[in-house]
Amino acid sequence: MKLKRTHRCGELRKAHVGEKVVVSGWVNNWREHAGPFFIDLRDRYGVIQLVFSPTDEALYEKARKLRAESVIAVSGSVRARADEAINSNIETGEVEIHAEDLEVFNISKTPPFEINEFNNASEDVRLKYRYLDLRRKPLRDALILRSQVAQLTRSYFSRHDFVEIETPFLTKSTPEGARDFLVPSRLHHGQFYALPQSPQTYKQILMMAGFDRYFQIVKCFRDEDLRKDRQPEFTQIDVEMSFVDETDVMSFVEGFIVELFKEVLGAEISGPFPRMTYQESMDRFGSDKPDTRFGLELTDITAGFGSTEFKVFRSVHGKKGYIGALVAQEASGYSRKQIDNLNQFVISLGAKGVAHLKFKDGEFDGGISKFMGDAEKAYMIENLGLKEEALVLVIANESAEAAKNLLGHLRNKLAEDLELIDDSVNHLHWTIDFPMLEYSEEDQRYVARHHPFTSPRDEDRDMLETEPENILARAYDLVWNGNELAGGSIRIHERELQQRVFNALNISPEEAQSKFGFLLESFEYGAPPHGGIAFGFDRMIMLLARAASIRDVIAFPKTASAVGLMEKSPSLTADEQLKELGITVIKS
Ligand code: ASP
Repeated sequence: MKLKRTHRCGELRKAHVGEKVVVSGWVNNWREHAGPFFIDLRDRYGVIQLVFSPTDEALYEKARKLRAESVIAVSGSVRARADEAINSNIETGEVEIHAEDLEVFNISKTPPFEINEFNNASEDVRLKYRYLDLRRKPLRDALILRSQVAQLTRSYFSRHDFVEIETPFLTKSTPEGARDFLVPSRLHHGQFYALPQSPQTYKQILMMAGFDRYFQIVKCFRDEDLRKDRQPEFTQIDVEMSFVDETDVMSFVEGFIVELFKEVLGAEISGPFPRMTYQESMDRFGSDKPDTRFGLELTDITAGFGSTEFKVFRSVHGKKGYIGALVAQEASGYSRKQIDNLNQFVISLGAKGVAHLKFKDGEFDGGISKFMGDAEKAYMIENLGLKEEALVLVIANESAEAAKNLLGHLRNKLAEDLELIDDSVNHLHWTIDFPMLEYSEEDQRYVARHHPFTSPRDEDRDMLETEPENILARAYDLVWNGNELAGGSIRIHERELQQRVFNALNISPEEAQSKFGFLLESFEYGAPPHGGIAFGFDRMIMLLARAASIRDVIAFPKTASAVGLMEKSPSLTADEQLKELGITVIKS
């Protein structure tokens, strides 16, 4: 390297005029005029215009051979641009460098897509050439933001006496409800490490070890069928505290969020954030992470359909199901096609469909209105508070939870379609009092809604053997504008209670011993009451950066089918390596 940079492309201003500088970077674009040859040179910090004058023929010709994305260094002097040549769109737009020397480090082939602010290539191509994609400003900014938030997190937690402790990746299964990624052991044939779904058991153990405040920005691994915004490996801000109850953890987190919002978004918010029980949240919004920036709440109208002629509703009523409605005044003029779209939307979520009626001038019209008797009509007018024109959407299901969930999704979709969401506001709240267990049809047993180390409420302990389904957990989720930002709980710290919870989950003492014996044993040597929380770091950055996808805030993400397109992972491995591991692959 002959020319060593003295300045970054993005930093040159009028104050530098007259200075001799060296800049290095990528050829962003070039322009050829009658006289000089212009290159916009780009680095992480911005873009600067280089001018090659035809008077230095050798240099001029060398510059003209350059292509986009080639890497060069240029020395020259900074000059003010003529008034008419000032470019107010870029920060360096008042100056340019008159090139005196040029060193070419690397000539680029024509890249498969242009490096600009727009997403003009397919995502697969962008992921394959990730190093090119990461040169684009939105991705670069997102990764820089990610780094800032990580620093801010470390600063906040360290300032409050939290100790950052690393926990192992080669570990034993931790139960967060997903499949484990397994790593075969070469030294112990037939045995496997599991990659942690979270550091849950370790952070609890750290509480037994006396570190009463722990945090870690940590990778977690879950082998799930991928959904839109999931990644097989993702990052959490993981937190655990001793001698605390729910309020302590929540107010501590609130302090962090207030600081984060101020620093990153310049938004002034203050705690304590409102709390809403799971039950209220489901009843009103059909979701445990509702977007509370708009109304459009659910109304339970089941009671009005005890003796309806409309068989579908009568049967749901008879089976103690749920009939719920959304009233959208703004959608009163919806066409048949628009309503059909809503119907397709709920069908895509697994529902049979959504029923509708239009209300106008005191009358119902369209959809299921012809099946409604006078009593049901009067009931709806009164209970849905119908006065103005409105579109009424109704979902009935034997499972109240399923029906509310569908209405919750429909509510979000309608709000988006009708533009009911004010993007400039931030609503933060806690969802609390979650049911501790839910019945898994697949496993034919209760499973923990959060994880099996979550403590039941003190007043519900006696119900463990009698009515486990009604127990509420000491769990809490932080919700921001309809997104779950973090979730955690107060943990069990007594062996006996932990075993009773395992019993309720149909986990035998033997199974518990073999899976979590170390944790149970640690409860017997002085276990402090403790609790914690974990933030989904990737999603948090996605929301802060207003990125469209979680993949846009991760340097090297996987595709929706868990493939690394750049390095091509997963991949086959040499027979020799498999032999060492004692593994035979069954070819499918
Ligand atoms: N380990 C939990 C999770 O990953 C969070 C917690 O309870 O702290 O969801």
